[in-house]
Amino acid sequence: MPYESIKLRLEQHLSQILKQHDVLEANLRHAEGFPDDWEERAAVLQNTEVWEALEAKDKEEITATQAALARIKAGAYGSCTKCGEPIAIRRLEALPTTQTCVGCA
Ligand SMILES: [Zn+2]
Repeated sequence: MPYESIKLRLEQHLSQILKQHDVLEANLRHAEGFPDDWEERAAVLQNTEVWEALEAKDKEEITATQAALARIKAGAYGSCTKCGEPIAIRRLEALPTTQTCVGCA
């Protein structure tokens, strides 16, 4: 699968942000049937009070990381959302959540 290593990095990043918050940990432990998948966890969290408690910066990062993972899943990752041209792999490796090529950024 293309972008497998970037996908792993994004998943790790997402789990790190989520784990940073004690309140989140407690919530995760007590939630029954909470998904194993970090991307799904983040999606579930967005409907909880915990989400409101997160700092804006973290919310942004979670949303951007999830969007990147969704694009990988959909096969749309690596294409500029503005001009449709491929985004350089070096740019993706440096900025895995970017949606635009250098020219459009
Ligand atoms: Zn572009």
